[in-house]
Amino acid sequence: AAKAQGKNRLQIYEPSIDQDSLRRVRLLSQLRVDAERSAFTFEAQPKVDREGKVTGAELLVRWTTREFGAISPVEFIPLAEQSGAIELLGRQALLCAGRLAQDIAAKGLRLHIAVNLSPRQLHNMAFERMALHACERFGIKPAQLELELTESALADASVLPLLRRLRNHGFTLALDDFGTGYSSLSYLLKQPVQKVKIDRAFVRDITSDNAASEVIKGTLQICRGLGLKTVAEGVETWAQFEMLRDLGVDEFQGYLFARPMPIDQWLAQLAGEGPTD
Ligand code: C2E
Ligand code: MG
Ligand code: MG
Ligand code: MG
Repeated sequence: AAKAQGKNRLQIYEPSIDQDSLRRVRLLSQLRVDAERSAFTFEAQPKVDREGKVTGAELLVRWTTREFGAISPVEFIPLAEQSGAIELLGRQALLCAGRLAQDIAAKGLRLHIAVNLSPRQLHNMAFERMALHACERFGIKPAQLELELTESALADASVLPLLRRLRNHGFTLALDDFGTGYSSLSYLLKQPVQKVKIDRAFVRDITSDNAASEVIKGTLQICRGLGLKTVAEGVETWAQFEMLRDLGVDEFQGYLFARPMPIDQWLAQLAGEGPTD
């Protein structure tokens, strides 16, 4: 009976394990193909200042496969990191950012375009050259681009010289998802970043959880002391926005203002041709 039961259990579990690893394998091989063909797309999510005026936008990668439909970056970015496809994805993102920054400047607007970087991209010797090349090709200044790094990217001290050079070139460095890593506040804030993006987990809880609002207050105080600009991500309600603004946050991003949208739609909105409501 025990044997039969064990067998039954295997029959229950095995298919789902197989499904997961099958999906992984298929995604990995499709990623390789699609990275080679630059088949990713990017959406833009605007950021606004304390008056609600647009300051720029962050590019967020999108990937759709024939087999599985749209895949979240939360699922495929780690796979791209492991497989090396991130190098090509990162290159496509930089070129997309350069082109968009050029379009924006052509409209006479002074807005920044932000791209997300994976830790692994900072270990690619060619990254610096690639970033400068994107600027040259589209006739923009590095200052028009913002590079969003996570705490894990900074955890490795060997990337420091590269970060200093990027900053010297004029790129703005922003620390993304701040508060979710394990490193100490003081260590992190010694990094050569100019902006800190407070993770949306703290923003979400700010109106209900005293601990979350204390973390935000502490972060803002240190940032002010060090002359760092602050951004709140994942702002979804007016109550959150008002609290964060009262606390002194400089920039805001979240569904309250706009969801990520196709780049053309954002450009149309900027031209005043977008839907007005
Ligand atoms: P992130 O850089 O922290 O981006 C913010 C994420 O929060 C995005 O998810 C965005 O769609 C979502 N978001 C924005 N506002 C709100 C809000 O008000 N409420 C909620 N619930 N969510 C909001 P997305 O697009 O799924 O991206 C997830 C993560 O994937 C990003 O987190 C980033 O770490 C990574 N990622 C995205 N694009 C790229 C890329 O081009 N390169 C690399 N290396 N990573 C990327
Ligand atoms: Mg980001
Ligand atoms: Mg973020
Ligand atoms: Mg985040």
